[in-house]
Amino acid sequence: MTSIQHFIGGAFTSGSGSETLPVFNPATGEQSGTLSIADAATVDQAVASALAAFPAWAATPPHIRARALFRFRDLVEQNMDRLAGIITAEHGKVLSDAKGELTRGLEVVEFACGIPQMLKGDYSEKVGRGVDAVSLRQPLGVVAGITPFNFPAMVPMWMFPVAIACGNSFVLKPSERDPSLAGEIGLLLQKAGLPDGVFNVVHGGKAAVDALLDDPRVDAISFVGSTPIAEYVHHRGTAAGKRVQALGGAKNHMIVMPDADLDQAADALMGAAFGSAGERCMAISVAVPVGQETADALIERLTPRVRSLAIGPGTDPAAEMGPLITAAHRDKVSGYIDAGVAEGAKLVVDGRGLSLQGYEQGFFLGGTLFDNVRPDMRIYREEIFGPVLSVVRAGSFEEALTLVNDHEFGNGTAIFTRDGDAAQSFLSRVQAGMVGVNVPIPVPMAFHSFGGWKRSLFGDHHIHGPEGVRFYTRLKTATLRWPTGIRAGADFIMPTLS
Ligand code: NAD
Repeated sequence: MTSIQHFIGGAFTSGSGSETLPVFNPATGEQSGTLSIADAATVDQAVASALAAFPAWAATPPHIRARALFRFRDLVEQNMDRLAGIITAEHGKVLSDAKGELTRGLEVVEFACGIPQMLKGDYSEKVGRGVDAVSLRQPLGVVAGITPFNFPAMVPMWMFPVAIACGNSFVLKPSERDPSLAGEIGLLLQKAGLPDGVFNVVHGGKAAVDALLDDPRVDAISFVGSTPIAEYVHHRGTAAGKRVQALGGAKNHMIVMPDADLDQAADALMGAAFGSAGERCMAISVAVPVGQETADALIERLTPRVRSLAIGPGTDPAAEMGPLITAAHRDKVSGYIDAGVAEGAKLVVDGRGLSLQGYEQGFFLGGTLFDNVRPDMRIYREEIFGPVLSVVRAGSFEEALTLVNDHEFGNGTAIFTRDGDAAQSFLSRVQAGMVGVNVPIPVPMAFHSFGGWKRSLFGDHHIHGPEGVRFYTRLKTATLRWPTGIRAGADFIMPTLS
């Protein structure tokens, strides 16, 4: 049983709080660790450590800040297998998927290594006679990241590489359900030469989050998690005068047009709906075949694929899907399947009650497929966040598009078609932040930015890429006069330069 501690000022500490929480291995159902929960004094200590480190770090030239990230990148690569093992042990996802999230996180580190280029300002010569103007981007100060359980490596890595490359110091509050990776990141950053205090970790739940939201020394909050908490964090953080980007939940639709390659679409749906047991904010949870013939053919292809999903512990190389994060979440997802049946959806494959030999106490659930789901059903309206795929049949492209646009969430969406006209119309008119054309999970690369629309994002900035640099810096614009001799006398009119 490991003891999981905060990482403050370059050292592990159990802090001054007395509360602890159990951490489980979802494949076996056994407790694997005990997590120290931060009280207000521990959060205060982490923020103080970040604040103390800020001036020297902000004064460090950007290309030298970037060198620590170059070294961190190499260290993560060297430790890839070990780090993936830590993710799988607490999250449950299969090892190849854990390595995949580390790789996607490293892409943001690589983007942040180019920070000198991103921080180049604007210079205008001769905005007046003998007058120049310059715009520069400067760091904010102490910024905090609050992250969900489903990507314990990648989501923090959407945030801190860009934040610290821009010259900020950082406090991470990871999910209390799979917290161990955060401290490992702290150690590797320290090994890479990052000064102590620039990156800190505090563990906990609502109390730790509230302490960060209310602390006037914290200038900005990046949050990723469920929509109700995202909305709350945005509301409370902005009321306290902070800059907040809060990414929330999703219900991602994939439209399948009659001209699509249906085998390709079915394979794409399998990975997108059941990869990581559906616990991805970019998972496809709704398939929308257009036309009865397309729907029948798609269900025919999906049914055997869902039935034969290889489910097992994440450490089994043959497993395609691991367990869910907790017993409570497994039961919640199972409850949604009950609700779908009660509301009249057709249950084609039922994943409830799965028990794996040797892993009877694990939090497993089988892949589930519903047909004839209607927009008024709870299984359609709400985010399930599990291995449940709903098929909603649409009569036309317009009807399918309206479904996506009318849903409260607008994170990602995709269309499968060979018709450029339909794809172009979809891209142009769909109300979602990330769109795939024959790509089921259109997660943007690190040098673009990630974020949804509608109730999938609260705030003005998407995350990482150019939007991340804008979020973690503020603009300063100076007007510079280089006189050959200062003229006497004051001017009282609004200055106009000539
Ligand atoms: P969650 O909202 O329960 O938790 C997210 C974070 O908020 C955690 O650090 C948690 O400790 C904290 N938190 C929980 N309750 C809180 C409260 N009452 N007050 C303050 N803080 C609180 O989310 P989760 O279950 O860990 O993650 C799954 C959710 O995250 C899903 O809804 C998923 O769609 C979403 N998600 C979204 C994205 C995205 O990019 N939009 C990415 C990943 C996950």
